[in-house]
Amino acid sequence: MLDLLKECEEAGRIGISGHIRPDGDCVGACLGLWQYLKKCLPQAQVQVFLEKPADIFEEIKGFGEICSEFPEEEPFDVFFVLDCGADRLGEAEKYFRTANKTINIDHHISNPGSGSINYIRPQVGSSSELIYDLMEEDKLDRDIAMAIYIGIIHDTGVFQYSNTSPATMEKGAKLIRYGFDFPRLIQETFYQKTYLQAQILGRALMESIRFLNGCCIVSVIDRKVMDFYNVEPKDLDGIVNQLRNIKGVECAIFMYQSGVLEYKVSLRSSEKVNVAEVAAYFGGGGHARAAGCTMKGTFHDCINNLSLHIERELLKS
Ligand code: AMP
Ligand code: MN
Ligand code: MN
Repeated sequence: MLDLLKECEEAGRIGISGHIRPDGDCVGACLGLWQYLKKCLPQAQVQVFLEKPADIFEEIKGFGEICSEFPEEEPFDVFFVLDCGADRLGEAEKYFRTANKTINIDHHISNPGSGSINYIRPQVGSSSELIYDLMEEDKLDRDIAMAIYIGIIHDTGVFQYSNTSPATMEKGAKLIRYGFDFPRLIQETFYQKTYLQAQILGRALMESIRFLNGCCIVSVIDRKVMDFYNVEPKDLDGIVNQLRNIKGVECAIFMYQSGVLEYKVSLRSSEKVNVAEVAAYFGGGGHARAAGCTMKGTFHDCINNLSLHIERELLKS
């Protein structure tokens, strides 16, 4: 087991970061760890570096202190990489490269471990759950518990997806004993959408196309549509899950335009297609039931290429 406090006991400066376009798990894990280290190591300076996360996470303690700019810094004594490998850190990668000690904590099967110390557990549903496992129970408090809980619900779809284990539920039970308002947090951070987010979701559903005899579905949102609704990529979170909810769909694909002839692709499957394999083929990664990648070409090129690999995965099962 990795001893977080021991690894940091001599550190004066500690940095924490996670993947670009941070999701709930990434934000929860980073801020949970940030709070814990600040509390247990009051002599150390601890900083979180992340691309600006969605405002829905602003209630998590430490949100306002996240650095979303990446100025030149003295090398960190310890630098944590959470919920990804060094390849998805974006600008924060420069701190990773110069740090004296790097600790990578992640649950992506596609991550071979990029730190000098690695704690990679693909069988665990979220990085937040991993951080919880590594914390000493008597040092937890309500704010730390809330950060970890939000991270867990985001990556497990509120304890629904198959990455939820009995142990995940037991940890969820322990966490809600700290007394935060979990029904409201689930509603406001996971289910609630703004009017514009709901409209673009509706548009994506309306324009979706089924293929491979209806067991796959795809929808794409181009830059001009995003501009029309005045939405950013983080407003599109959750669309792929709604596509996968459709009866008969084994594999759902959602793509949005991220550049000229470039699409960010999200993949979800119900029980057969290993989408981590499909995404990995195109340079991305993730988990068996949820994965992503970035692809070049027209929408039709992308979907033709994806469809070949999805069909191959379907034939395997
Ligand atoms: P997304 O559909 O982008 O929400 O991602 C689904 C899952 O796949 C998440 O666990 C992501 O962290 C992971 N993922 C998405 N894109 C990539 C990528 N390019 N490389 C590795 N993992 C990814
Ligand atoms: Mn994540
Ligand atoms: Mn995660």
